[in-house]
Amino acid sequence: MKAQVFRGVNQLSYEEVPTPEIAPDEVLVQVKVVGLCQSDIKKIRYPLYQPPRIFGHETAGVITSIGSEVTGWQIGQRVVVMHHIPCMRCDYCLNDNFSMCDVYKNITTTAGFTPSGGGFADYVKVPGHIVRSGGLIPIPDNVSFEQASFVEPTNCCLKAVKKAQVAPGQTVLITGAGPIGLMFIMLVKYFGARAIATDLIPSRIEKALSVGAEAAFDPRDPDLSTKIKALTSGLGVDTTLLAVPSDKAFFQALDCTRRGGKILFFAEFPDEVEIPINPNILYRREIDLMGSYSSSYRIQNLAADIVFNQRIDVETLISDRYPLQHLAAAVEQAIAPTPETYKILIYPQTAE
Ligand SMILES: [Zn+2]
Ligand SMILES: [Zn+2]
Repeated sequence: MKAQVFRGVNQLSYEEVPTPEIAPDEVLVQVKVVGLCQSDIKKIRYPLYQPPRIFGHETAGVITSIGSEVTGWQIGQRVVVMHHIPCMRCDYCLNDNFSMCDVYKNITTTAGFTPSGGGFADYVKVPGHIVRSGGLIPIPDNVSFEQASFVEPTNCCLKAVKKAQVAPGQTVLITGAGPIGLMFIMLVKYFGARAIATDLIPSRIEKALSVGAEAAFDPRDPDLSTKIKALTSGLGVDTTLLAVPSDKAFFQALDCTRRGGKILFFAEFPDEVEIPINPNILYRREIDLMGSYSSSYRIQNLAADIVFNQRIDVETLISDRYPLQHLAAAVEQAIAPTPETYKILIYPQTAE
């Protein structure tokens, strides 16, 4: 089969690799669509992982082979593959911090080499513990593979929205209107809150408004916090979701969030960034800082429901489609996005 193998920093190699062999409790899935995620880009561009590896984790496909001990699944079934599943028994899991669980962090779906997701390949192997623990999600007939590939990123955003306790009537500032920021806007609206967005790119400001933001601004606007306070009875927003790794965006969030409000870090910052802050700002204004990383096992069904029943319009986020062969070009585009670049999807089965 073909796969895009990570051979070193910024070295993707489109190669022939052995199709994974499955054990009696495993399932093989033919990858139809895999979303390109910011985290994939980071893994490709920085020396974080020892090569060779096959990344890709926003995977939707068809079951093509089933181990003899697997029950409840059939060849030909369309599924979303979750690339990691928590143990449900450790102290983290018992406190619902599934993404902190060591079993969760240890990715086991693979298309070969050290298991690393395996979505950037013709086929991906799903290990027994993921098959048994709800890590395969059946895709309803009326839902496309493209739509289904959004279940994982939706879960990650949904987890953040839940953690920040976004509630009806609240106002939420979302910094950054790329694919993640736009998804946040739609989710915040779905939960009955008002969304305000910022982005440097004018077309993204327009897009934010078109997916339901009540207002959207250029973050360089010197009157930003005044304008946001005008929209929130002079208070500021209840919560800010930081969907860009920018310290400027964080300080704007402090200016724009009400006393007693929340600021949630969603985007991952470069490791060398440090943000100096006077703790009294947090103390006197009772601002809660929080982080949300990856997905939550607990809200898996809700994430699937939101995507499958089109409670948010994930299709509006898709801007570009690449065959797997051209993954490197897709990564280039994601690094240097055009004003119209949003979510990029990859198609392993489209040979040229
Ligand atoms: Zn992802
Ligand atoms: Zn655990």
